Amino acid sequence: MAENKQQLNPRAERLQADIDALAGMIDGSRPGYTRRPFTPWYRESRAWLAGRMREAGLTTRIDAASNLIGFLPGADPSLKPIAIGSHTDTVNGGGRFDGIIGVLAGIEIARLLKETGTVLRHPLEIIDFTAEEPSEFGISTVGSRGMVGNLTPVMLELVDAATGTTLREAIAGQGGDPDRLAEEARKPGDVALYLELHIEQGPVLERTATRLGVVSGIVGIVRAKATIVGDPNHAGTTPMTLRYDALGAAFERLCRERYEADVVGTIGKISNEPNASNVVPGKVTFELEIRSLDPEVSGRVFRLFEEEAARVGQARGLRVQVDKLSESSAIRVAPDVLSVLADSCAEVGSWRELPSGAGHDANQMAVIAPIGMLFVPSLAGKSHCPEEWTDTDEVADGVRALAGALLRFDERAVLGERG
Ligand SMILES: [Zn+2]
Repeated sequence: MAENKQQLNPRAERLQADIDALAGMIDGSRPGYTRRPFTPWYRESRAWLAGRMREAGLTTRIDAASNLIGFLPGADPSLKPIAIGSHTDTVNGGGRFDGIIGVLAGIEIARLLKETGTVLRHPLEIIDFTAEEPSEFGISTVGSRGMVGNLTPVMLELVDAATGTTLREAIAGQGGDPDRLAEEARKPGDVALYLELHIEQGPVLERTATRLGVVSGIVGIVRAKATIVGDPNHAGTTPMTLRYDALGAAFERLCRERYEADVVGTIGKISNEPNASNVVPGKVTFELEIRSLDPEVSGRVFRLFEEEAARVGQARGLRVQVDKLSESSAIRVAPDVLSVLADSCAEVGSWRELPSGAGHDANQMAVIAPIGMLFVPSLAGKSHCPEEWTDTDEVADGVRALAGALLRFDERAVLGERG
């Protein structure tokens, strides 16, 4: 490391004050800590964040997709920026940490660079991405999509049913410029590296008493819809042996298997017709999703599901149809990024590698840049609820590890080489 690089030690009480400040800019008419994008509370928090960025020595701007970006020049103007980002919108009834600590971590690191007089070689960008959570327009990761050219003209015309506003209008209303999206879209190579600190949103770190998680990758998702057609009939007069019960079939063994690989499967949405207590179910549709880092594994589990569904259908005399709705590919973090993140975490505390079962802005940024993510523990694995909690010293450890990783990456010539 060069001699001007020191350890950056975040101030926990300052981070906590920032978390508390944002926790006060919420829609009081909604449950929990609700700050939906494109609302007055979001505009208030954006103005506050921009102020904190400028205090930390960053220049601020709003890009075409209405992301808030704080910029710090680097010593070597030929280098592309390292970006640190996340989001400050919440789900309805959300918490105080999801996304928020990632943006605040970036601002705290900028302050520490300023206070210690540390000059990075790379320019640094701290990004508050617009509308990461599922929005009123039906899509998520709005801002990061926009930044990498994945916000299509069709998406821009999506309408918020409650207000009649289009996504295009919402982005413009927040200082963005939808007409310049294509022109401003970043391309592979435009960003040297993207880093994100996030709460785990799961129980693994807490259960294993581990301070930090190095994210090995973000799972891909296979979503499918299954329709089972039986014969609706009277619940009292139809003998068990003469039923074609569509709902009974849905519950038979379809999601009971255990797998060794890192894979999860969920049937989270179900509808039953005619849905009456005295009628044998005649038609059941449900949606399932399978998440894994390994497309081979999710593909195999999906095929097993199809085979099992066909077998149950045949055994029960029902018509079963399975349609794949969508498939997103998994993202693997490059080995050299993983090893730098691991070294930085080891300097701070206990750590382990784990996949991210949830999607993030990093999914979009991976289109144009190598990515790295760190997790800090979530109390009881809870997120997207008011009970969401991470201790201040755990957040500070995450920021310390992220700052250490930033200094290490900054020393390197080529980031995220595929190993
Ligand atoms: Zn998040």
